Amino acid sequence: MSFTVAIDGPAAAGKGTISRAVAAHFGFAHLDTGLLYRAVGARVLAGEAPLAAARALTAADLEADGLRSPEVAEAASRVAVDPAVRAALVDFQRAFAARSGGAVLDGRDIGTVICPDAQAKLFVTASAEVRARRRLAELLERGHATDFAAVLADVQARDARDSSRATAPLRPADDAVVIDTSDLDIAEAVAAAIAAIDARR
Ligand code: C5P
Repeated sequence: MSFTVAIDGPAAAGKGTISRAVAAHFGFAHLDTGLLYRAVGARVLAGEAPLAAARALTAADLEADGLRSPEVAEAASRVAVDPAVRAALVDFQRAFAARSGGAVLDGRDIGTVICPDAQAKLFVTASAEVRARRRLAELLERGHATDFAAVLADVQARDARDSSRATAPLRPADDAVVIDTSDLDIAEAVAAAIAAIDARR
């Protein structure tokens, strides 16, 4: 039987951490859909055209080095504006969502566009300052040279682009449970997500 959990929200709100924990808790498979857009962005930075890159994507692309860099994130959010690129990635995501045994997909448009019939929908958010602080810690740990102001500007630019694009803009589905993680630690955020999903099972 399939059971789909859609987890959307802005960059660095804690979607990835919550999604992995929720998938482990329920024994569901997990797809970080941001990686699809990052993999397309990485191919575009290497010289390919966006739509050709999206159509040529393979599982190996999702394992490529450097997909977590700020440059690739920026390229991802630029290719994600293109409706044809988004359309090329729909079937893969829906097939993943429909797998038996349950699936968690996290991204920007899972509850609104990719899986509007998902049994559980969460919208995970936090203030831009909190998200920038978390992203800065992650980047410094991975050895990227950057600072708070640069990361905050990057988070705000991506938020603006993701929320204002015409196709599949970032917004909570009408039936999504909103979890603001600004004042929650990881355990509290995960517990809130599990409780919201349990309520739908
Ligand atoms: O989640 P992550 O930061 O890895 O996503 C990178 C970019 O990919 C986002 O800024 C967004 O523009 C795009 N994206 C999207 N739809 C998704 C997942 C990611 O547009 N479902």
